[in-house]
Amino acid sequence: MANFKNPKTNAGISTVGADAAGKARFRLWGGGPDGEQLIVRVYRSGTVVSEGGGVTLDSTDAGNWNFDYTATGLKPGDQIFGLTNLGARYTAALSVVSGSGTPSKNHLIASWAAQYATNPIPSSDYLFPDAIPYPALRHPTMGPCTPLQEKCIGGRLANVSGLAVHCTAGPATDAYHMAAFHCIQTWNTNGASAHFGIARDGQVVQFISADHIANAQHDPGNRSWLSVEVSNPGRNEGMNADQLDSLKDLFNWVCNEFGVPSQMGTGFLGGNTTMNALTQQVCDATGASTTRDTAAPAASQGLSCHHWLDKARKPCPGMGILGQLPSVLKAGPQS
Ligand SMILES: [Zn+2]
Repeated sequence: MANFKNPKTNAGISTVGADAAGKARFRLWGGGPDGEQLIVRVYRSGTVVSEGGGVTLDSTDAGNWNFDYTATGLKPGDQIFGLTNLGARYTAALSVVSGSGTPSKNHLIASWAAQYATNPIPSSDYLFPDAIPYPALRHPTMGPCTPLQEKCIGGRLANVSGLAVHCTAGPATDAYHMAAFHCIQTWNTNGASAHFGIARDGQVVQFISADHIANAQHDPGNRSWLSVEVSNPGRNEGMNADQLDSLKDLFNWVCNEFGVPSQMGTGFLGGNTTMNALTQQVCDATGASTTRDTAAPAASQGLSCHHWLDKARKPCPGMGILGQLPSVLKAGPQS
């Protein structure tokens, strides 16, 4: 029996905050099954990263079985365990978060990524099980993506009205390149973001857990809508069959998980003649209404898009994908 504690208060803990330099202090109380002192190890994506230093025993109060440690080089999402001298885990995980105990707004994504190599099933309803958390993406030479900055993530998403579709407007790429260069690199500069991305092979990537706001389509659209970027070859290019299947799966999950009706949201007719004609066509095909009221699309529910939710400020997701939205509502695989 052993568990982690706050060294100042002696209260049990399951998360520990690492400072900007990756340093954290914690107490391990208890010992192994043979009364031995446990070995402390830090794991990142299932791999031990504390060998050769990184965990230092600061003080020992053997009479009370208290062992106080300092760990360095920690990253949010790392997991710390106490192990028996046979190498078996003998404590629950102590999860590393950023800041002095304040969880990152994206701690669900970080902890999912940390376990992904050994267990890809997420442990939260705010994570889409068919997606890969972006920190788990690896390029053979470039390694993982640069982390998404906290400024790109808004406050709590209290109520989900539906899913808003966007496009990267080219070039269409695999999951790593989409995430690293057509999403995160841009977002860390301009503060934008989306919850999900769909790569050209249909792989869904999750950037932000569904309990937080993404900066995808301004207010009021951001306040109650989940958002997905589709990697398409150019502004007006459509989705391929793999991407359409993935978008259907994602939208079904949004409907089931958040009680969203499987319907088209209200279309916005404040764009140019071409976009308005296509919007009218998409809404007529799905029995949805259209409006010139800028607030009405965000107040509706179901499947929507950047153009409708953001007062037609942008032509996103482009003519091709907008024209395909009725297919997302149809049951069964795309033929
Ligand atoms: Zn967009």
